[in-house]
Amino acid sequence: MKAHIPHACTETCTAEDALDEALRRAFWQSLNRTPLPAMHALEVAARTIGTLYRQVAQAHEGPNGCRCGWEPDPDCDLIVLEANLAAALLQPPQSDLARMQPAGRA
Ligand SMILES: [Zn+2]
Repeated sequence: MKAHIPHACTETCTAEDALDEALRRAFWQSLNRTPLPAMHALEVAARTIGTLYRQVAQAHEGPNGCRCGWEPDPDCDLIVLEANLAAALLQPPQSDLARMQPAGRA
């Protein structure tokens, strides 16, 4: 797991872009197949992030867990996740519009 390492190299940025695109595509494809009210869909997505956090944290527990050194701290990590959510919501990056075009419609 490298999620906590600051992204300074293009390799990490590429990995971030790939994950970002995969999540967006899955979200929009699902909504195109089975529409949901907007906030309901976003609430499901937020819950899914919480589930993913729990699963990733569990993958770092015990002797067979990931040894990258990350120690899950749900209280602090939640603040970081909320800050990222708020930042994306209030200040979408410039590339957002360009990336959204192939995503389809809600
Ligand atoms: Zn790890």
